[in-house]
Order: sequence, then structure tokens, then C-alpha cells
Amino acid sequence: MKKIGILTCIHANEVCTGASCLKAFHGKTDFFQDYSADTQLAAFMTCNGCSKERPQEPGEDPGILEKVDRLVKEEITAMHVGVCRMTKEKKECGRITEICRLIEEKGIQVIRGTHKE
Ligand code: SF4
Repeated sequence: MKKIGILTCIHANEVCTGASCLKAFHGKTDFFQDYSADTQLAAFMTCNGCSKERPQEPGEDPGILEKVDRLVKEEITAMHVGVCRMTKEKKECGRITEICRLIEEKGIQVIRGTHKE
């Protein structure tokens, strides 16, 4: 049985319920289409905020480091990143890129996508 998780933007969570990500996961559609029925969505985490309210970079942020360690302890093998990772300029947020790097460093696969836009 495979355990996977989802990473999103904390500010997007002010207006987002995660419903589209969860619908895609449970329906095994879009970026989840290749998973078997017994795959568990076992973690759901956000970034810790933009630099103006959270000065520490992700690699120095104890909260982010704790979350990444928890992914390892939970034996998560893949993390999907929501479309909310993209800025208005259609570029990936640098902090999300850094969090993805920290996750990959632990041997966890990062997949950029959950549901189709
Ligand atoms: S750092 Fe990026 S992903 Fe996190 S709240 Fe700010 S814009 Fe969203």
C-alpha cells in the first residue's frame, strides 16, 4: 500500500477547501489516475507563509523541517503540489520550490499537480 500527501500554499487555504484535490484523489483522476485503490492520502501540508510574515527561509524554518520529518516517519513516498503553487505571474513560488527540494532530499518523490486547472 502506497502513502502519498499533498502540499499547498497557506494563503490559498484562506479561500480553498481542498475539495478539488480531494475529489481528484478519491476519484483517481488527473494527477492521481495511476494509483491503486488502496493508496492512502496520508498527509496534507501547507507552506508556512510568505517572507513578509515568516522571515525564515523554509530550510531554516523549524516548522517546515518538522513537517518534512513527519512525512518521512509516515513513510510518504510521493507528495503532490497543488496548482496554488503558481504565482499570478504563472511562475512557481520560490518557497514552494525550496520546500519541494527539501522533500526530495529525503527521498520522497515530488509531483507537481493534483487536479487539472
Ligand atoms: S510562500 Fe508562496 S506558497 Fe507560501 S503563502 Fe506565500 S505565495 Fe503561498
